Parts: sequence; structure tokens; C-alpha cells
Amino acid sequence: MGATMSTFQHIQVPQGEKIAIGADGLPDTPSKPIIGFIEGDGIGPDIWKASKFLFDKAVAHCYGDTRKVAWMEIYAGEKANKVCGNYFPEETLDAIREYNIAIKGPLTTPVGEGFRSLNVSLRQELDLYACVRPVRHFEAVPSPVVNPDAVDMTIFRENTEDVYAGYEVKAGTPEAEKLAAFCAQEFGWELSGHTGLGLKPVSEAGSKRLVRAALRYAIAQKRKSVTLVHKGNIMKYTEGAFRKWGYEVVRDEFSDVAVAWADCNGDPGDKILVQDAIADIFLQQILTRPKNFDVIATTNLNGDYMSDALAAQVGGIGIAPGANINYETGVALFEATHGTAPKYADLDKVNPSSLILSGVMMFEHLGWQEVAEALTGALTKTYGDKRVTYDFHRLMQGATLLKCSEFAEAVAGNL
Ligand code: NAP
Repeated sequence: MGATMSTFQHIQVPQGEKIAIGADGLPDTPSKPIIGFIEGDGIGPDIWKASKFLFDKAVAHCYGDTRKVAWMEIYAGEKANKVCGNYFPEETLDAIREYNIAIKGPLTTPVGEGFRSLNVSLRQELDLYACVRPVRHFEAVPSPVVNPDAVDMTIFRENTEDVYAGYEVKAGTPEAEKLAAFCAQEFGWELSGHTGLGLKPVSEAGSKRLVRAALRYAIAQKRKSVTLVHKGNIMKYTEGAFRKWGYEVVRDEFSDVAVAWADCNGDPGDKILVQDAIADIFLQQILTRPKNFDVIATTNLNGDYMSDALAAQVGGIGIAPGANINYETGVALFEATHGTAPKYADLDKVNPSSLILSGVMMFEHLGWQEVAEALTGALTKTYGDKRVTYDFHRLMQGATLLKCSEFAEAVAGNL
């Protein structure tokens, strides 16, 4: 295909080829794929620079000059405001839709006031309904728990609904008064306009496609169980419905390969066991009996809390990767799961592992398995050598403290 002409105002399209998506929703990766990247705010530029350096080294290590990523910078957040005069340019969405695969650093979100989360907007605008977060321990990485190796879970968090849908009104506004009055009149709910109000939409279609994606992942990765995590004892028609619809997917669409606990009394034979857990006890049991859990499917807010709690068990958010995927359109956005840590911006200090491991997920998704394995092996060796950034250094005896860029060089040296 060769060069592609840019139709964007600010985005420069590099020489390379578009990644096409097959009928199965998976990428058909050419030898010089164009992949979008958003550098991110705060520590974003530091971790992106380190990660890109390492990705290019790993691809060259595995394939010489027969394959190479053509990186295409796309803009969101503070850099977008500088370059495009807008925090969330439309052409960013267009570029991701057109080129299908992208990777990003963290983006700032103001708390309480100001613009909506750009991360949430990206996920919703692109309908990236599955937030996929694998959590497992790397040998030698310091952890606050006694047996971090027992954690090997992949969270599928619904990404487009729940209280993240953005249906919120501020206390004391005419909108809050109107909604409170409507609820009082139609439902007899005693609400005042001096209450902040939010809606929690959880749909059958949204729940089912997420559980379907989790089950397909469990089948492909030969995992043993899928746990539906919910707070359905309290929020019966949202969280409880998520559980009900999840079991319907198992019974209606996957009965040849998966079985609900209630249908096998906990003995699934060679099928995947589908069980459910209430969110509060789940948060206790991931600490007390992590081996009981494998693939997790859950609603949006639960998934947010659980991802960080689980990441802490294996070394913290500095090392937790993530991807936002629509398995029908094939559009996938890989991302560091931590935030912008503004106090460390431009200090070349923080751990780039979260973004590097998100890259590992991306290369696996692209079918460049050799690169994913080379990066994973080199990271494991570098942690084992105790050559680490400040976050691990403060928890390790006898470790060598490296800057963000030095850590990437150390990993490259271990490829
Ligand atoms: P944060 O940026 O994730 O930082 C919290 C703490 O986590 C840091 O102070 C640091 O701990 C540790 N940390 C984060 N990234 C690290 C890394 N790469 N290496 C080592 N340690 C790391 O969370 P926040 O302060 O709550 O949020 C800051 C901003 O980021 C907010 O605007 C928030 O909305 C945004 N955010 C964005 C995303 C996203 O883009 N996906 C996700 C979450 C938050 P120590 O201080 O102990 O060293």
C-alpha cells in the first residue's frame, strides 16, 4: 500500500500501512503498520519516550529491518490544547477509527469541576466497551502481600455505561430541581434539587457483550473460570441485572464450553466455570484466596476499584497494563493504567512498566508474539537484576536506582 495521504489538520501520517481488521475483529498486521500514539500529560512524555525506544529496539531485535512500526502522533489533553487549540480534537477520534490501533499515556482529569474525563470520552466515543486488564506478578517485584504469585487474573471491566455514562446534574441547579421534581411526581421519590443526582445505566446489550468478550478470552487463553462481580444485592436492576444477563449469555451461547456454578454444583468438568461474587466480599477474597479467581467480568465502577486493588497486590499501578477494545469494530486503544502523577512530570523518574506492558498486550493483539515475549523476558530479567525505578527501589534491598530512561535502556540491554 505504501504511503497514505494525510487528511488531518495537525496529525502527520507517516510512511507505512494501515492495519486492516478481519471479519473476526482481529487485526491483519502488515510489516510496517501505522500505530497512533498519545503521549499523555504529566509523566506521559517521560514514559512514552522510554517505551517507544524499547518497542523499536524489541521489534528490531526480533525482525531486523523486515518489520517496523510507523508511529503516528495523535493529540489529546494538554499537548492537543497547545497544538490544536482544543483538549479533545475530533481528528484524534477520526485517526483512531481510521487506523484502528493506538496506544496512550495518562491524561489529566479535573476533579469535581471542569471538563469531563478525556479517557472516559475516548472510551465512549469509540465504543471501546471492554477494558481489559491482566494482573499477574513478575518475580522479584516487591509486593505488600505474602504470596503475590497466586494472583493471575484478567479483569474485563465494562467501559461505556454505569455511573461513568456522565448523566449527572449538579446540586442546586435548575437541572437538578427539574430532575428531582420529575422523580417526585412520577416515582414518588423524595429528592431535593439541593442534591447532586446521577444515573447508573446498565443495559442488557452492554452487559452481554462484555461477558461474551470475557468468555471468548477465557476460551482462547484456556482459563478455568469467569467470575461475574457485582453489587446486585443492593442495586438489583443494574448490578443484579448484570449478573442475570451474564448467566444468560453462558446458558444461551456458551453451554458447549462453559457452565454456571448453579448448573454443575461447582464441578464444571472440562468446561469453564462461571460463578459470581458480590463486590465487597470479592475485594476480601482476592487477598485471602486469590487462586479462586481467573477471568473477572464486572461493571464499570467496580472494575475501576478492582483493577487498582489487584495491581497493588502485584507491585502497584506503576506496573499495571490495560487495553480498551471493541471486539466488533476491532478498534483497540492500549494505555498505561495509572494517572499523570504531576509531581513527577519531566523528572525522568517514574516507572514506565505500565505503558511497556500495555505495549506487550498490543504486540500480542497484533500477532507479533515474538516482540511481546522478548519484552516480557527482558523486563523480568531487569526486575530480577534489581535495576529498578524509585517506586520499586524503595521497597527492595540492595537494588540499583535507575531513572525512567535508564530503566528502558537496561531492559533493552536484556532483550
Ligand atoms: P496517579 O497519577 O496515578 O498517581 C498516584 C500515585 O501513584 C503517584 O503519586 C505515585 O505514587 C504512583 N504512580 C503513578 N504512576 C506511577 C508510575 N508510572 N511509576 C511509579 N509510581 C507511579 O493518580 P492521581 O494523582 O490520582 O491522578 C493524577 C491525574 O491523573 C488526575 O488528573 C487523574 O484524573 C488522572 N488519571 C488519569 C488516568 C488515565 O489517563 N488513564 C488514570 C488515573 C488517573 P508515589 O507518590 O507513592 O510515588
